Amino acid sequence: MCRHLAYLGRARSLASLVLAPPSSLLVQSYAPRRQRHGTVNADGWGVGWWAPEVAEPARWRSASPLWGSASFASVAPAVASSCVLAAVRSATAGMPIDESAAAPFTDGRWLISHNGRVDRAVLPPAAAVAAESVCDSAQLASLVFATGVDALGEVVREVGGRDPGARLNMLAADGTRLLATTWGDTLSVLETPEGTVLASEPYDDDPRWTDVPDRHLVQVTPDGTTLEQL
Ligand code: GLN
Repeated sequence: MCRHLAYLGRARSLASLVLAPPSSLLVQSYAPRRQRHGTVNADGWGVGWWAPEVAEPARWRSASPLWGSASFASVAPAVASSCVLAAVRSATAGMPIDESAAAPFTDGRWLISHNGRVDRAVLPPAAAVAAESVCDSAQLASLVFATGVDALGEVVREVGGRDPGARLNMLAADGTRLLATTWGDTLSVLETPEGTVLASEPYDDDPRWTDVPDRHLVQVTPDGTTLEQL
């Protein structure tokens, strides 16, 4: 995924997060402002969210460009959630372009997205077996699920050590908190009284956006946001 976003806070519509802002993920799918790798994100998209009284996150994913989904555009204003993870995809060369390769990936409890690339040869074979797709990002997510998402920082550090060319910006959400890493790409944070947004790039010009330095782990809970060096 080349641009991704996660939100934790007071319930907001999917449209207000993913479609409506002036530089939303929808706009980033054809005109990203800070993307270093790839130019458009037209190889699919995905949105995952938690609904009240439903334990498992819901997901809507597609292998088509986000700008072409009139159905999502009509449903998104009508669905609100307090925890959302969304992404638009620019497929890495050689990766399949189908729905199963589009983030967010899930183990039934967590949602994970990966902005970057990794050599699949440095991942344990078990990660490939359990993954939703042969896509590098799905296999990396599978490794994080198997290791435990609380060890996200350690997994990124270790995989980054084994593949020095890897870019490992990841987002994870479980409905009550968010985790994110920066490892080779951009990430920004917007904290407001209503909630906190993590995004590959700001979706508007709100002066409260701040940039996360490279090689950091971010954690967002209802109590606040912490940063830790990786
Ligand atoms: N490597 C992942 C894929 O092919 C993510 C690509 C990206 O971040 N641009 O889907």
